Amino acid sequence: MGKKIIITAALCGAGTTKKQTPYVPITPEEIAKDAVACAKAGAAIVHFHVRDEEGKNTMETERFVQVIELVREECAKANVDIVLNLTTSGAKFPEDMRLAHLPILKPEMCSYDPGTMNWANSYVFLNTPQFLERLGLVAQELQIKPELEIFDGGMMGNVDYYLKKGFLKAPLHYQFVLGVSGGMDGNIDSLNFLLPKMQPGSTWSATGIGRSHLPVLLAALSAGCDGLRIGLEDNIYMDKGVLATNASLVERTVKISELAGREIATAAEAREILGLVKHV
Ligand code: ZN
Repeated sequence: MGKKIIITAALCGAGTTKKQTPYVPITPEEIAKDAVACAKAGAAIVHFHVRDEEGKNTMETERFVQVIELVREECAKANVDIVLNLTTSGAKFPEDMRLAHLPILKPEMCSYDPGTMNWANSYVFLNTPQFLERLGLVAQELQIKPELEIFDGGMMGNVDYYLKKGFLKAPLHYQFVLGVSGGMDGNIDSLNFLLPKMQPGSTWSATGIGRSHLPVLLAALSAGCDGLRIGLEDNIYMDKGVLATNASLVERTVKISELAGREIATAAEAREILGLVKHV
C-alpha cells in the first residue's frame, strides 16, 4: 500500500441549497450529523461553512460557535475524531468577522484563499492583500494551519509572495479547487500546470467542482496527492441524475483510493502528515 490519503468532506459550502438537493446539511443539527457520518465513513478532515436560520451563508461568529460546539459534542458522543477546518471566505462580510471565529473556536485548520477572482461570473470572490496578511499572521499566532485553496494559476505566485514575506510558514498545504468558472478548469491539464509550482516539501489535496468532481479526483490520485476533498459543497451528484449524500461521497472516495493502492488516513494520522496542532 502507498502513503496514506487524507479525505476531506466539505459538507455544504456557502451556496448549495435544499432546492438543489435535500441532502445538503444546513441546520446545526444536520451539519453535526453529517460530520459524524463522514468521520465514520473515512473522512479525516471536515471543512465547515455555516448558515443562518433561513439557510443563507453567514460568517456570524455566534453561529459558528453554535455549530462547532454541537459538532464537537456529537463527535465525542459518537466517539469519532475529525480535524476541524473552518472557512474564512465570505466576500460579503466584514474582514473582522471573517477572522473572528478562529481565536474562539481554535480549529486545527482554516481556509486561506490567496487571491481574488470573479466567481462564476456572479460576484467578486474578494480576498484583499490586507486580509491575506492578517489571516496569515492570525493563523500563525493561533497555530492554525492554513489550507491554501487554489482556484486559479496566479494564486500560486501569491502564495510564494506571502511565504517570502513571512505571512505564511512552510511546510504549506495546498487544496486545488478546480472547475469553478472564473478559475482554472477541472482537468488533468490544470493539475499538470499547478503541481510543479508548489513550494518544495508541501502537501496537497484536490477537488473538482460539479461535473469535474470525479475527473479531478482520479487525476489527483494518479498524480500522488496527499488528500482528496469531496462533498456537497463541490458536487451534489453521485452519478448522472443520482443525488449524493456527504457520507456516500466519502464511501466512494475510500473505495476508489483503496483500489488505487492507498490506505485511508485517520484524523490522528492526518495531524501527523500535515503537522497540525490540536488545541481543544
Ligand atoms: Zn469552503
